[in-house]
Amino acid sequence: MAKKLGLDTVCVHVGEVKDEQFKGAVSPIFMSTSYQFTDVEVRRYPRNYNTPNQESLSKKIAALEHAEAGMIFSSGMAAISTTLLAFLKSGDHMVVQNTLYGGTSNFIREEFPKYGIEFTFTNGYDVKDFEAAIQENTKVVYIETPSNPLLTITDIKAVSALVKSKGLLSIIDNTFASPINQNPIDFGIDIVVHSATKYLGGHSDIMAGAVACSDEHMHAIWKKAANLGGNLSDFTVWMLERSMKTLVLRVKAQNKNAKALAKFLEAHPDVKKVYYPGLKSHPEYKLAKSQMRGLGGMLSFELNNDLDALIFQKELKLIKATMSLAGVESTMLSPYMTSHGSLSQEERDRIGITNGLIRFSLGIESKADLIRDIKQALKTTKKLIKTEA
Ligand SMILES: *Cc1c(COP(=O)(O)O)cnc(C)c1O
Repeated sequence: MAKKLGLDTVCVHVGEVKDEQFKGAVSPIFMSTSYQFTDVEVRRYPRNYNTPNQESLSKKIAALEHAEAGMIFSSGMAAISTTLLAFLKSGDHMVVQNTLYGGTSNFIREEFPKYGIEFTFTNGYDVKDFEAAIQENTKVVYIETPSNPLLTITDIKAVSALVKSKGLLSIIDNTFASPINQNPIDFGIDIVVHSATKYLGGHSDIMAGAVACSDEHMHAIWKKAANLGGNLSDFTVWMLERSMKTLVLRVKAQNKNAKALAKFLEAHPDVKKVYYPGLKSHPEYKLAKSQMRGLGGMLSFELNNDLDALIFQKELKLIKATMSLAGVESTMLSPYMTSHGSLSQEERDRIGITNGLIRFSLGIESKADLIRDIKQALKTTKKLIKTEA
């Protein structure tokens, strides 16, 4: 039934827990960690990921990602680490995109060697880079598009086809796009992972993760998950369900703001470069349009050389310089100090994360106010630099 419903309706209604007792309009919360045995063999227990709230929200994630099954985790990293460990064992090898969320990169570099799992970071995000990195013991190919923080676009269909032709497993981090803008399973990807802390939660007050894939793959992930124990509390599951009802509205507004601000920044004399897949100047503009319904609420930019990115961010009044992204409020950060701070300077230089790069997560505010804030912060930054000199 879910397939026939419109996207907005899926967000509001799929995966609700019916309130049979009082006929309330929203899902009741079931906080029990203990459930009486019934005739049916369901041993409900939060770490089995099968409480009423967990099971219901899993259906919403699955419907949004056009998958057979969904699962909710306590964080994006719980979803990612559990999924990877479900399919990789000692002696296996994974090919992974080099432009990647910092936490995922750390997990691979720090934990894989302890399990005897090998990995190769690609040279770039072209399908040829992935093909070149595949070796005899490769089991998984892992991509992220649009990527954090440079918004590179990987050809999902081409990579999926390559991975399928070799009989391997493809995994994508779809956090930056959200299921509203991009459905990788439609392009042949096997498993989709999300940090639900970002767009799915959307209000900077929930930490959660999600996975969507076939029933068969989900069974393997579920077995690993029950062993590792990265389940989300049912109260937060309920919060996430509440947030996801407005997912379409938020993401559409964020897409619109990102496009407007990308154009504004690109035309501004104090801005050296803007990275946004919705700009014609983006090298993968056409590819992005072919695999995304909306081009996202994230962009990155660099100020002209003499303007200090940190001073500029301190001078912002409405836009906050913070960790994390995808909330209804607009935020910025310097990836070299934060999300990608644990990479070496050399590694950052290689993938293009300069000290002047600013990542911009668009909220749902009025675009005129965002533009005004950036203009005043640039003006003050220039004044400060002049007085210093
Ligand atoms: C934040 C993020 C993660 C990690 O999610 P947490 O919820 O912080 O554990 C993974 N991938 C991307 C792209 C992210 O932005």
